[in-house]
This record gives sequence, structure tokens and C-alpha cells, in this order.
Amino acid sequence: MSTKNSISNNVYNWLINMHNFDIEPELWNDLTEDEKEQFQKVREENLYHYTKYQESKINNELYKNILNALPFPCALKNAKGEFLFINPAHVKTFNLSTNEPYQTIDDFHILSDKERLGLQIDNAIALDSLCTIQKPFSYEADPLNRRFYYWVCGFQCKNNNRYTFSVTQDVTEFVQTENKLSEQVAMLESTNENIIRLSNLDPLTGAYNRTSLVEFFELNFREARKTKSTFSILLLDIDHFKNVNDKFGHLVGDKLLQDMVTLLKNSVREKDMVFRFGGEEFLLLLPKTNFIQAYEVAERIRIHISKNLKRPDNSMITISIGIANYTNEKTATDLIKIADENLYRAKNNGRNCVIPQVNTQNKGIF
Ligand code: GH3
Ligand code: MG
Ligand code: MG
Repeated sequence: MSTKNSISNNVYNWLINMHNFDIEPELWNDLTEDEKEQFQKVREENLYHYTKYQESKINNELYKNILNALPFPCALKNAKGEFLFINPAHVKTFNLSTNEPYQTIDDFHILSDKERLGLQIDNAIALDSLCTIQKPFSYEADPLNRRFYYWVCGFQCKNNNRYTFSVTQDVTEFVQTENKLSEQVAMLESTNENIIRLSNLDPLTGAYNRTSLVEFFELNFREARKTKSTFSILLLDIDHFKNVNDKFGHLVGDKLLQDMVTLLKNSVREKDMVFRFGGEEFLLLLPKTNFIQAYEVAERIRIHISKNLKRPDNSMITISIGIANYTNEKTATDLIKIADENLYRAKNNGRNCVIPQVNTQNKGIF
């Protein structure tokens, strides 16, 4: 091999690695015009590649800096699922120490088996179909029980290698706020229900108040019309109650009214309703009850009260009852009027008795 050839070989070798290799003037003069031209060409090509290489180095650094600056955990994985890059937010969020052997998602021990499998499946789908998948997952190793949103996208480079890039967003606070909100909504709903319930109740006795009577009357009218059935009302008044107040005081009177409601509720069915109609006057709404059954109930109640409700001196408390029964042509006002008239009759009859509705069809008392 000639000196010239060995020099030019050397120059070629150097040029592969060195973009700025410059040949010494005395050697340059020994080169033929062809060699000079070739040298020049290779040097230009080399300079071009070197510049590209420098640019790509800068781009790499630029993208790395951007990913490192992102507040969301980011990770780049190859087709085997091995982590090629994770940013500091990823390390911090998942409490990873840099010494930790942490190569694939399998090493991600902070996740439960189920969550890890879920992420692996998402990664595999994104990798296979080069698509983007978004799913929530939780990280329960932390005492705070964290909740995340996982976004993963699969892509393919010019060399046909496939990768996945994932971004994880910590949505724990959002979920907590959402939970708190739904708790508060549930609380508000239950408070609302309570308010509605209480607005239907008489504060002293806990019986339904007169305001709620209209609504429940309507219900019974509708049901009776629809099913061609009937219902009855009993209007009850405590006998000589003024006398109780006068003799024993209002507080004793109040207590007797409360006990009265307890006894009434205990002596009727679940679906029967007890209303406080006035001071010491109560109305019982008895669904699906005909006038004979209503009379039986009224008598049972009258006897039950006379046996179980006592004044402080142990003398008995009695009640008078007037009954009304629904038939097609009657309105709520008609029913209450009939019951009130029958109650009036009961009082005139000497009290402690029941006056049923006069049955217009049989013209008799039933
Ligand atoms: P009658 O047998 O004719 O029904 O006689 P009465 O004394 O029961 O009837 P009256 O209408 O003369 O008196 C009703 C009494 O009920 C008078 C009133 O002070 C009392 N009263 C009404 N509401 C309450 C209440 O909430 N608490 C107490 N303690 N008494 C009440
Ligand atoms: Mg009375
Ligand atoms: Mg009265």
C-alpha cells in the first residue's frame, strides 16, 4: 500500500468519526484532485451528520426536560413492557426509590394484583392496536387510598419498534370531593325528607297533623275509586277533657294526649292513620274498611281507652266516636261533616259511645 493510500484510508477512517478533521497542508498537496474532491465530499457529509446528531441530542434533551418538568407521572415502555424512561413526578407519586429494581410493570408492587393486571391489559391493547386507552385505577398501598386516571398510548417508530407512553393523573382529591359532595347531597335529601315528615306531624303527640289530612284523604279517595273499594273515618273526642286540665294542670293534659296517640296507634293496623284533628280531637283514617268493620274498630278503641288511659287520680278517661264511610258520591268535606254530626250525637247520647254512619241503603243504623 502506498503512503498516499494509507493516508487517504486514515483520512476516511477519521472522517467517519470526526466531523472537523482537517488535513495538514503538506499532506493535502500530495493528494490528487480526485482524492481532494472525495475528501471534501466526505467531510461535507460528515459535517451534515454531525450537525443532525447534535440537533437530535438537543431535541432529546429538550423532550426529556419537558417530560421531567410535567407534574404528571409519565413513563415510556418498550414492547416487552420494560420501562425506558420515567419522569421525576412518576418517581415521587409512586414513592419509588431510584435504587429500587423497577423494570417492568410486574415490579410495580404497590399495586394490587387486580390493578396491575388491568394496567398490563391496557398496555397490551394500546401496544397491539396503537391506540389510546384511558381508565381509572386505585393505588391502595398508600394509607390514603389514592385514586388515579391512567392514560396510555401505543405508537410505532420508523424502525418498526413499538412503544407505549403513559401519563397518570392523581384524581384522589377530585374523587374525595365528589364523595363528600354525594354524602352532603344524601344528607340534604334525608334532612329534606325529615323536614317533610315533621311538617306532616303534630309536634306534641307525633300524630299526623291536620295539614297532611288533605293529601292522605286524596290518596284514599283515588284508591277507593280505582279499586271500587271503600274506606272509613273515625272522629274521636276526649270526654270532659277541660276538666282534666282544670284539675291536674295543662302538663298532665299534654301527657294524656301523648298517651292517647300511643294507645290509638297500638290499637289499629299499620296502614291506618292517626291524625290530631283539633285540641283533644283525633281522626282515624282506615283504608279498605267498610262501615261494619269501622264500627268494630271504633268500639274496640273506645273500650281500650276506657281501660288503659287514666287520670292521675286513677279515674278513667273516656272518648266519644262518630263514624263516616266513603261511598262514591261523597267528598272529604261530606265525610268529615257526617263523622262530626255522629260525634255530636255520641256526646248527646251521654258520651263514652260510638255512633256509626246511618246506612242510607238499609235505612238502619248500619
Ligand atoms: P266534651 O266532653 O264535651 O268534649 O268536653 P271537653 O271538656 O273535652 O271539651 P271542651 O271543648 O270544653 O274542652 C276541650 C279542652 O281541651 C279545652 C282545652 O284546654 C283542652 N286542650 C286542647 N288542646 C290541648 C292541648 O294541647 N293540651 C292540653 N293540655 N289541653 C288541650
Ligand atoms: Mg272533648
Ligand atoms: Mg273537642
